[in-house]
Order: sequence, then C-alpha cells, then structure tokens
Amino acid sequence: MVIIIRNVSVYKPDPVGIKDVLILGDKIAAIEDKIDINLNGLVEIKEIDGTGKILVPGFIDCHVHILGGGGEGGFSTRTPEATLSDLTTAGVTTVVGTLGTDGIARDMNALLAKARGLEEEGITTYIYTGSYRLPLRTLTGDIMTDIMAIDKIIGIGEIAISDHRSAQPSFEEFAKAVADARVAGMLSGKAGIVNVHLGDGPRKLDLINRVVEETEIPITQFLPTHINRSQELFEEGIKFAKAGGCIDFTASEDPEFWEDEDGEVRFSKGLKRLLNEGVSLDNFTLSSDGQGSLPIFNEKRELVGLGVGKSTSLVIGIKECVFKENIPLEIAIRAVTCNPAKILKLKGKGKIETSYDADLCLLDKDSLDIETVIAKGKVMVENKEVKVYGTFEEKSSL
Ligand code: ZN
Repeated sequence: MVIIIRNVSVYKPDPVGIKDVLILGDKIAAIEDKIDINLNGLVEIKEIDGTGKILVPGFIDCHVHILGGGGEGGFSTRTPEATLSDLTTAGVTTVVGTLGTDGIARDMNALLAKARGLEEEGITTYIYTGSYRLPLRTLTGDIMTDIMAIDKIIGIGEIAISDHRSAQPSFEEFAKAVADARVAGMLSGKAGIVNVHLGDGPRKLDLINRVVEETEIPITQFLPTHINRSQELFEEGIKFAKAGGCIDFTASEDPEFWEDEDGEVRFSKGLKRLLNEGVSLDNFTLSSDGQGSLPIFNEKRELVGLGVGKSTSLVIGIKECVFKENIPLEIAIRAVTCNPAKILKLKGKGKIETSYDADLCLLDKDSLDIETVIAKGKVMVENKEVKVYGTFEEKSSL
C-alpha cells in the first residue's frame, strides 16, 4: 500500500511546517513540501487530506496490562485484556505489556502470547519480563536468557517497591536483578530497562537511588512509574530526573477525581513543573497503566465499582498540557513518542523521519482529537472510525 498524507502540519515531534508525507509499505518514505509520484496505476495510492490537521508520531504506551491486571479484590476483580481498538483509537501504535501484582494466574507465557496476538492484529508490541515480585518469575527461568533470547522482551518489570504489595526485596536481590537486565540489554542491543512500580510507601525511590549510589549501574537503567502518585513522591521524582533519570507519569482519565483529594499530580501540572525546574526534555514519559483496575466513585465520592484504565488517558493528558498549562504540543508529545523510544531503545519508533516505521496519528488542529491512526503503514482508524478490529472484538460495542 502507498499512502500520501497531503498538506499536513508535521510535528516530528518538533514542528517542521506543512508537508506531504509518503508512506511506502510499513515505512515513512519521504517528507517533502510537495510529493508527486506516478506509479502508472500499478499500485493503488491512498491519498489522505491533512488540511487543518496535525501529524504526530504514533503513541508509545510504555506501561499497559495488555493481558489484564488487578485481582486485588479477589478473582472477580481481575481486569479484562486490552483489545486492538482500545489501543488504536487512543492513538497507540506501540505498546509495552506488563504483568503486575499477579504473576501467577497470569504468567509470562500468556503475556508473550497476548503481545504476539496484538502484533499479528497490526500494532507493535514489546513486554517486560517478571511481575511485582522478586525474584522474578521469568519465561526461561533466567532474566538474561529472557532478554537475550526473546525478541519482545526489552527489560524487566514492573517490579514493585515502596508498596505493601511489593515482595519487599532486599537491596542485594534488587541490585542483582537490575545488573542482569543491564548486561543482557547490552549483549542484545536492547534497553534492558528496569520498569519499577512505585507504591505510596515512605521509602519512595530509595532502593533505586541506592543502586545508583552504591553500584556502577547508571541511573538510565531505570524507568520508575507512577511517579505522580503523590506530591511527596513527585518531589523525589524531580530530583531523580534532574540527576539524569527518566520518570514515567501515569495518566488518568478522570480530571476531577485526581489531585485535590489524594494529592496526586496530574501529568500536565507535573510536566510544567519539570520544565520550570530545567529537567531535560528527554527525561519524562507518560503511560496509561491501561487495563489496570481503577476505582469508580459516585458524586459523594463513595466507591461504587471498578473500572479499567484506558490508553485514551494519554491524549487527555496531552490536551491538558496544551490547553490548560500552555505547554507546546511538541514538548508534551515527547512523553509518548521520542522519549519512550529513546529510553526503551525502540528502533524506528517515536519520530516522523524517513525510514522510520509508518506509525502516525492525525489530530484535529484545534481540538487535538485523534482522527486517523496508521500503524506500520496500515490505516487502523480513519476519521474516528475503526477500520481494523481485533479478532474477537464485537464491532457493535464500540
Ligand atoms: Zn504499577
């Protein structure tokens, strides 16, 4: 398939003006002021009018419970798996799957199978090996073998620290797992990243900071997530980011039930703070924690049920940055494009450049609504209408 997106405002993420973008197969072939090609009718050329629209890289959601998660209120609270259109309608073209609290009833075999399934359906997938627990239950029995032998495994996690649900790993245990991830990553040309779930406990980032201080392992080996869970934790996160570490914000869909009551820091406000503090533009990411369980409250703020996190929270977070905090779009989208691609070493991802993967989102210029989503050169969503469904998705339910 050949696609030309015409007359579109391209954010690479940096804005480069109005361009035509040519997609050949699954790659971006050219970004020019005007593209004219003649294939003598041999191959169909799909033209997409980008007038009044913004083209950004497809989103990378670097922390999603694609297999479902939760279960912390008993078996009936286990959350469902992510469907293809859960992700694509949210602009996500690359997802990193993770287990979570439960690494028993859901395991690495199942996570890998789910990731392969989503990949077959059309998007790009990676996974972390392990769950909250240390020692990690890996696929092959060994962290290094998992990372080196299984293409989809790019690191370990999410390992829980500073949380009552954590396995309360010792410093030695934690450092050893990080060391294995690092060396296996080096040997296989991967990030070997350590995705760390931060709970609301008083030890915050202590275990990570100790590894950085007491061993030779660099701060860039870690991607701690849920950094905006509380104001106090976020303050530690700022220090970590200033020291050269990358921090991952968890997006939230519900703007009203955040922040004030629980002290959580919304991504938009957190990012504004990072920018004011002079943190590098490379050192933050935003993930949805999709398919994780979310409490649902009524107007009296009583718990009335459980929902699941969705990747749509990413674009909500981006919009808030732009519309509420006046952060330029090109900075806000770094959190879901070039920054996760860099820290996770995802080749050909996170930028609109020639020879990069044709993973693209077309946004309305004014509302920043996601209108059209292309993954690996295939139109998955067009004008907000799903074009490619997952295998067992019920079309009518969307
Ligand atoms: Zn978590």
